[in-house]
Amino acid sequence: MLESWSNLVFGMECLGCGSASENLDPWLCPECRKALVGLSKEARRPSDDVVCLFPMEELTRRLIHLLKYRGISGMATYLVKHSCVMQGRSENLFPEFVRPLYFVPVPLHRARFRERGYNQAEMIARALATLTGGQVSHWLWRRTFHVSQTKLSRRERERNVVGAFEPRLPSKLSARGTVVVVDDVYTTGATTGACIDALGMDFPLDVKVCTLLYDRPFSARMDFVADRRAFWNP
Ligand SMILES: [Zn+2]
Repeated sequence: MLESWSNLVFGMECLGCGSASENLDPWLCPECRKALVGLSKEARRPSDDVVCLFPMEELTRRLIHLLKYRGISGMATYLVKHSCVMQGRSENLFPEFVRPLYFVPVPLHRARFRERGYNQAEMIARALATLTGGQVSHWLWRRTFHVSQTKLSRRERERNVVGAFEPRLPSKLSARGTVVVVDDVYTTGATTGACIDALGMDFPLDVKVCTLLYDRPFSARMDFVADRRAFWNP
């Protein structure tokens, strides 16, 4: 166990399959990287305004857990760079979105932030902003503490997040541009939908959503089970 952890910490093991490899990049072995690029071709658009860079599969689930629960922030940039939407060129990321781009991370409640020390949505927003020349904009605030979304049904999720966010907009907003609400996983759209609602009906800029992963609503419960399991069993 100790050896396995030290290999992980010192980057000798592939974070996808756990096997020792001398050709890490530095996260994945060539096989897992190839699998990731394959998954990127399954990027989802649950609606015109929502872009999800990868489907939720065993590999992408592992990588997002490293970002979410271990705070490996470089993973956000790595995943965005390997997404099909980007295709290795930053100008390919959201070409149809009106510039400038304002990446607004779904805020974490203060208590959760204190517990973790970081907000994974902010890490993803930062990666997207760096790669597109946009900016991270903290324009939303989380009002109340909520139980983890992952164990709730769709209806419960919607009830849980309604009114959870309030806007903290700058006094002077640019006349054009696009707000991209950023989260790690899109399941029912309840959380990002509540964020969009919080910006208000009269919000003057285009509003879109980008998440790293798309998860089918019915598997969210499974994800909760996976969350509770040990890191993984190599
Ligand atoms: Zn691997």
